[in-house]
Amino acid sequence: MIVVLTGGTGGAKLIEGLAAEIDPAELTIICNTGDDAIIHGLYVSPDIDTITYTLAGVVDPDQGWGIKGDTFNALNQLSRVGSDTWFNLGDKDLATHITRTSYLREGLKLSEVTERIRRAFGVKSRILPMSDERIETRIGTPKGEIPFQEFFVKLRCAPEVTAVHFRGVETSQPASGVLDAVGQAAAIIVGPSNPITSIGPILAVPGIRAALSESLAPTVGVSPIIGSSAVSGPAAKLMLARGLEVSSYGVAQCYADFLDTFLIAKEDQNLTNRIEALNIRTVCANIRITTLTDKRRLAREVLASAQK
Ligand code: GDP
Repeated sequence: MIVVLTGGTGGAKLIEGLAAEIDPAELTIICNTGDDAIIHGLYVSPDIDTITYTLAGVVDPDQGWGIKGDTFNALNQLSRVGSDTWFNLGDKDLATHITRTSYLREGLKLSEVTERIRRAFGVKSRILPMSDERIETRIGTPKGEIPFQEFFVKLRCAPEVTAVHFRGVETSQPASGVLDAVGQAAAIIVGPSNPITSIGPILAVPGIRAALSESLAPTVGVSPIIGSSAVSGPAAKLMLARGLEVSSYGVAQCYADFLDTFLIAKEDQNLTNRIEALNIRTVCANIRITTLTDKRRLAREVLASAQK
């Protein structure tokens, strides 16, 4: 069993490659849930959904979220009747959120709901939320603290970031199955995901970081940063807010206590000595991934690194 820690966009690209290179049933994916939000009364879990849709082959390839070919009739109608519709939800996508919300109201845990939904989509890989408890990523700005989706989607990452924290994480527990998956993994992969708001919340759930450090399985990460910028999204801004250098070295520092090998961009070869000084083997690769060919090639490199 190979365990992957991930957020949505970047992690999903690598996971698509991994699922094409090995039996998808061999993958257990631990997803960030700090981005989850209640929208129109529905429980939306963006990272779990992106991974589920990606593995089901139905993700919208242009947006990297939602279902391809989806329509937005319900959202347009919500707007007509006066709802605030800054968060895009397609008609088919809404069915996922309605189903999840109903199951949660019936008393199922998020991990049980996620399992049912991924099976309904025919996804062979196991998808686990990092926790069954509600953990909310909150972004501190000069005008006060806001939930992550408001910062990311509504305000398009424009506000200055003064702090990032994960409300509720201190008293949370890993979802059932998470620690066992880490403990039994043949290899652990950290996706090219945002180190602060995608991997950060997973590592902050008490017990997960310690389980990763204790694991004897090879642990391989892929950097989401090339040079001094994120390939996409607000990772750079959030790393700066945490006082980290915006580079693959800064990302490596976040994982230094458990990572064995880190794949960084070829153009960042000059960082190799500094990252290796953190006791992390560094492999320079083409980590910019667009096509399925790129995703599969990177997946093969990651899997090969996990054998050494
Ligand atoms: P989120 O939940 O949508 O933020 O998803 P992730 O955290 O998994 O993905 C966002 C991260 O993916 C960003 O920090 C990007 O820099 C990174 N990313 C996106 N595309 C690529 C890519 O092609 N290569 C690499 N190495 N990183 C990428």
